[in-house]
Amino acid sequence: MFKNKLGFGLMRLPQTDENDWASVDMEETVKMIDYFMEKGLTHFDTAYSYHHGNSEKAFKEAVVQKYPRDAYTVSDKMPVWLVKENADYQKFFDEQLERCGVDFFDLYFLHALDEKGYTDSVEFGGFEFLKKIKAEGKAKSIGFSYHAAADFLDQILENHPEVDYVLLQINYADWESEAVESRRCYEAAVKHNVSVLVMEPIKGGSLANVPADAEKLFKEYHPDMSAASWAIRFAASLENVVCVLSGMSNFEQMADNVSYMENFTPLNDEEREIIRKVTAIINENTAIPCTACNYCLKDCPKNIPIPKYFSLYNNQKQFGLTFLQIAYYTDLINSRGKPADCIECGKCEKLCPQHILIINDLKEVASVFETAMKESSE
Ligand code: SF4
Ligand code: SF4
Repeated sequence: MFKNKLGFGLMRLPQTDENDWASVDMEETVKMIDYFMEKGLTHFDTAYSYHHGNSEKAFKEAVVQKYPRDAYTVSDKMPVWLVKENADYQKFFDEQLERCGVDFFDLYFLHALDEKGYTDSVEFGGFEFLKKIKAEGKAKSIGFSYHAAADFLDQILENHPEVDYVLLQINYADWESEAVESRRCYEAAVKHNVSVLVMEPIKGGSLANVPADAEKLFKEYHPDMSAASWAIRFAASLENVVCVLSGMSNFEQMADNVSYMENFTPLNDEEREIIRKVTAIINENTAIPCTACNYCLKDCPKNIPIPKYFSLYNNQKQFGLTFLQIAYYTDLINSRGKPADCIECGKCEKLCPQHILIINDLKEVASVFETAMKESSE
């Protein structure tokens, strides 16, 4: 299905009003899409929720109404958090076909599964619905996008051999991240022989602007290539990755991405080594020196996933707090102990080889994320 490893993620389209996500700039969007198609790239990815529904409408106007159905492929996603009963799946799906102006999707996902999203999807029959639309030919292939722990992904894939694809957050900065577990999630998909699409290859744009020392390493090797190109090529170089979705927001980003993905070459060993050094530079700015050894977890009476919280905290220090980090934090507090549950027994600190003041650092984690959650709900 994927003629090229670069897909156009329609979630950060150019806007006419930068404060209004619904305000898609159609003139710029059409220009970008025409260029993308002209260069022989063909996959688009949208979702019910992107641009408050206007991503699907923009796709219809700029792609479906201009190009024959066999000139492109499209993936769309079920807003699982809005599903309250089984009948909702069909209702949303029909609305999406209508909004996009297509008779079928090439790939259809359950959107943003975490532990709660998965449990709800099982309860309401989400996976049966996927099988049904595939049998009807309304979705040529099926899968889910995922934002939680690798072990849980492994379980889901074990339970659902019908899944064709997973959409995972993979980038070089998160590859070994204790919170996101990019590498382990990728390996779970490989283990189950499920092909991978990638989201957030540039980590929400943050890997387009790396620290000066890191930028220097990139430029010394490829003077004319952007920092973003290293991030996209890192994800695309993984063997089981069939498509990297890039949420391009202007023509310049589109032209840059297409320039190296039109005729993609995987990273060589020297380039991999440079990425390893760049990752080390990014990690130097790590606020809490947790090595994710997990020793501290042994006796915690409150089942607090300490290294995962520290990884999320370090992440927001390096790259700024993002919606995705808050989503991971929410999933953690719903499934395990919260930082604020700590009763200060001190068992963990005795076990930490890095002598981290875990009790104090957990308070700092709670303060940053609880404030952000409060602000985002206001
Ligand atoms: S001090 Fe807090 S985090 Fe550490 S073991 Fe006790 S309850 Fe768990
Ligand atoms: S013991 Fe210390 S270094 Fe190891 S995971 Fe826990 S906090 Fe991190």
